[in-house]
Amino acid sequence: MSLIMSNIHKSYATAEGAVEILRGVNLFVGESESVALTGESGSGKSTLLHLAGGLDHPDSGSVMMAGQALSGFSERERAKYRRTKVGLVFQQFNLIPSLNVVANMSFHARLADRYDPAWQQILTERLGLEPYLARYPEQLSGGQQQRVAIGRTLAARPPLILADEPTGNLDEATGDAVLDLMLSLARNAGSALLLVTHSSRLADRLDRKVVLRGGRIVE
Ligand code: ADP
Ligand code: MG
Repeated sequence: MSLIMSNIHKSYATAEGAVEILRGVNLFVGESESVALTGESGSGKSTLLHLAGGLDHPDSGSVMMAGQALSGFSERERAKYRRTKVGLVFQQFNLIPSLNVVANMSFHARLADRYDPAWQQILTERLGLEPYLARYPEQLSGGQQQRVAIGRTLAARPPLILADEPTGNLDEATGDAVLDLMLSLARNAGSALLLVTHSSRLADRLDRKVVLRGGRIVE
């Protein structure tokens, strides 16, 4: 299942009038491919991820996933797309405070109807979360919470993972280790990955690297 974004334009209204952030973005992410998205702060990387995830609409241009245009979806189909086709990993972990680690981990997989206890067990071991399964998010460190958030996304085996500086608020050593794990587990899951990162060391480990500059993708 590949993602094709074609000639995407997106503006935001500001006090000074509309500002066009994306000015004809073309981006392809192939099935199981991993792509690093870099670009200066404010260049529109998060905006682009939100459009890919169906969280927002472009002004013009098309987002196609597995041959289907998001713009043709009803609200219900769009919600299903978000639930079953994409996994989001953001800087804020967005764990559910009232659920323990096991329940947080399986939450999206159950919603997507793809809960697989054996796969969740593998993720739990690889992410080193076994000692914390009964804990609640507030009882975990930032690095541990991020590993749960990554496990939760991977547990659902989404065709496409959208990760927006997922380790941006962890220290560098912890962040790198968590990202290394996410990369190899995404490969195991067969998920394509579009990852916003500032680390060129990390970007080099992905299949491809693209840069967002001046509202367009420059390779
Ligand atoms: P990046 O993730 O590359 O740092 P963003 O996509 O977050 O960039 O933002 C791109 C630009 O759009 C920034 O100038 C930001 O201030 C602006 N922007 C983002 N979201 C909104 C919004 N909802 N309303 C108005 N301006 C926004
Ligand atoms: Mg951003």
